[in-house]
Amino acid sequence: MTVIQQRLQERLLQRHQQSLFRNRLTLDSAQGPEVRLGDAKLLCFCSNDYLGLANHPDLVQSLRSAAGRYGVGSGASHLVVGHSSPHHELELAIAEFTGRERALLFSSGYMANLGVLTALLARGDLVLEDRLNHASLLDGGLLSGARLQRFQHNDLTELRRRLDARPQTAAGLVAVDGVFSMDGDSAPLADLSELCRQQKALLLVDDAHGFGVLGARGAGSVEAAGLDSSRAPLLMGTLGKALGCAGAFVAADQTLIEGLIQFARSYIYTTALPPALAAASLTALRLLREEGWRRQHLQVLIERFRRGAETLGLNLANSHSAIQPVMVGEAGAAVRLSEALRLRGVLVSAIRPPAVPQGTARLRITLSAAHTEAQVDRLLDALDYARHSE
Ligand SMILES: *Cc1c(COP(=O)(O)O)cnc(C)c1O
Repeated sequence: MTVIQQRLQERLLQRHQQSLFRNRLTLDSAQGPEVRLGDAKLLCFCSNDYLGLANHPDLVQSLRSAAGRYGVGSGASHLVVGHSSPHHELELAIAEFTGRERALLFSSGYMANLGVLTALLARGDLVLEDRLNHASLLDGGLLSGARLQRFQHNDLTELRRRLDARPQTAAGLVAVDGVFSMDGDSAPLADLSELCRQQKALLLVDDAHGFGVLGARGAGSVEAAGLDSSRAPLLMGTLGKALGCAGAFVAADQTLIEGLIQFARSYIYTTALPPALAAASLTALRLLREEGWRRQHLQVLIERFRRGAETLGLNLANSHSAIQPVMVGEAGAAVRLSEALRLRGVLVSAIRPPAVPQGTARLRITLSAAHTEAQVDRLLDALDYARHSE
């Protein structure tokens, strides 16, 4: 065995011993409030399909009919010959909906964040990131070659101090999740935007979990915070969460987008998203805009869950998004709770380090517009039961 394999064996064993080993589930159904795992039907509260669009018949139909016309594979990268009309139309629609000059599609949110940070930053620059940012923002910051500093969660005083202390020659970029993926709380975007304006730093908002869910029209965290394109100039969102498809976008002004097309390596050196997926995403965007009831129903479920969980005395986070973690602490306890829920027919994943800081393991509960109030009540019953079986 090589040194590398030996080391890996030890690390795997350690993961098992620390209750940190991760197993994949294999679904035998589409996403939805109920999923099938082999013979078991489970009530699912852990997908990011916040609007219940991942299996919507209109999306399936768009995918089918676009596949009939454009086939399956895009065949090449966007800059060679992989860019087609469905991509183009989706970019125009996202730009218009988000109120920005242009939008650019990426194959995933991970690649979008890597692309933005590596294309815009250079050695000698400073990139500041919230401690609880998504891994893709942190990885992009590391890969960019700029100096990466992490500040305490939502701590604007520390952020201001760090921006103040940077050398005059260092360009500054501040990157945050609009809605934090494991906590469900929001970044203070209005204050962040003002601080960035004063400090001449560029603000990047990753709105993977806010887009489609928050804001009067569902345009996300920046809309909810009342920020237009001049105050939140660089917006990233994904197509795989509330929109129920796959892929991601960056929406910004002409110069930023053209810069990404020319310099973002994770945009340039990869095969374009299948055109049929872009067509399905366009349909999802239409439903998002036309069916405001999905967001309203989701808010009703969120409030219902929070009231019920508070009555049960569960330890909730300060979240009004579709992500409603129940804080547990120790990884083993979170796994046991998740297993007890599963015995009651409810699927909720235990989130453990390294996805979250040590000692903050939790059940990450996510709600969807496709859930009913009765299903939320079943979740609360199961939580009550699981907690007492501890
Ligand atoms: C999911 C997520 C991403 C990555 O998006 P993918 O399209 O799944 O690669 C990026 N940022 C945040 C905050 C996310 O939650």
